[in-house]
Formats: sequence, C-alpha cells, structure tokens
Amino acid sequence: MYKKIKAAFFDRDGTLIKDVSYLSDVKQIEVLPGIIKFCLFLQSLGYKLFVITNQSGVARGYFDEQFVEKTHQYLFDIFKKKGIVFEKFYYCPHHPIDAVIKKFLINCSCRKPKPGLLLKAAEEFNIDLKSSLMFGDRSVDIDTGNTVGCKSFYIKNFIINNFNKIEFEKMICKKGSL
Ligand SMILES: [Mg+2]
Ligand SMILES: [Zn+2]
Repeated sequence: MYKKIKAAFFDRDGTLIKDVSYLSDVKQIEVLPGIIKFCLFLQSLGYKLFVITNQSGVARGYFDEQFVEKTHQYLFDIFKKKGIVFEKFYYCPHHPIDAVIKKFLINCSCRKPKPGLLLKAAEEFNIDLKSSLMFGDRSVDIDTGNTVGCKSFYIKNFIINNFNKIEFEKMICKKGSL
C-alpha cells in the first residue's frame, strides 16, 4: 500500500499571521516572526504543511469565500517565495448561531474544535494523523488536533521563545514516528 504522509497542520490567524480579527484586506497580512524558519524546519523533517482555519467572517457576511480564497492564494505565494509549500488551505465558512448568510448557518462538522477539516485533509492526502502535528494559538486548535491523535502545540511557546530544535525534535519523535 502507498505510504501515508505526515502532516503539520497550522491554524492561520494568530499562528501563521497576525490576528487582526476578521481580516478583510490582504494588506493586513503580516507573517508572524519565526514562522518562516519554523516551517522550513518542519519541511526538513519531512512534514507536509497544511492550513486549517475557521473563517466565520463568511457566515457573518464580513467577506465572501472568494476573498478567503484570494487571501489563501496570496499567502501561498508569500511562503512559496521562501521555499515553503502549503499543500492546501482548508477553511470552515460556517457559524451555528451568528451567521447572517443563511446557507452558512449550520452546525457543521468542520468548524474547529470539530475535526472535519483534519479528517478531510487526511483522506485527500493519505495522511497518518497519529504521526502528524497541529499548531495553533488557541485551545480550540489544540483540542481539534488532539481529537484525531495529532500531537498538538501552542505555537507561541516555540516561536516567540525561539524554539530549541533539538528539544523539539526529541518531543515529536517520542513515538519513533519520524
Ligand atoms: Mg488562531
Ligand atoms: Zn464548517
């Protein structure tokens, strides 16, 4: 059987880029310090990178899906120039209560902390979730990763404190999955 890949899933706002609360213009994009270096490091360990993001601004009518896709293309290009490839950007446009756009008013299975987007990625890219990682700045991110067996980390601990590569490698290698 075709070998499963290991993934590093990243939350978007507050993790890869500055959280400006419902980003609605690509001019607001600011990649957070240390992220480029960290992504390059993960790639060097053989992880494929993905983005997993809640974008309820779509449901709330703040911006449309086209804008989210444009933003993701823009982000893809920024990282690509630095040698980093995000395989795919997955987002949830829904909200169960505050949606003003009717079709997005659902209690979906993809809004974090529900694991729908991770499961979809795993199916589309043949990912072994148990040897994969999830990074985020909020507890919903950590909960989402843990639900499907990913090792999950608050990114701030690693980035802001200038993470120690050796220690980090030891930690993610605990189960000998690398
Ligand atoms: Mg976030
Ligand atoms: Zn959803």
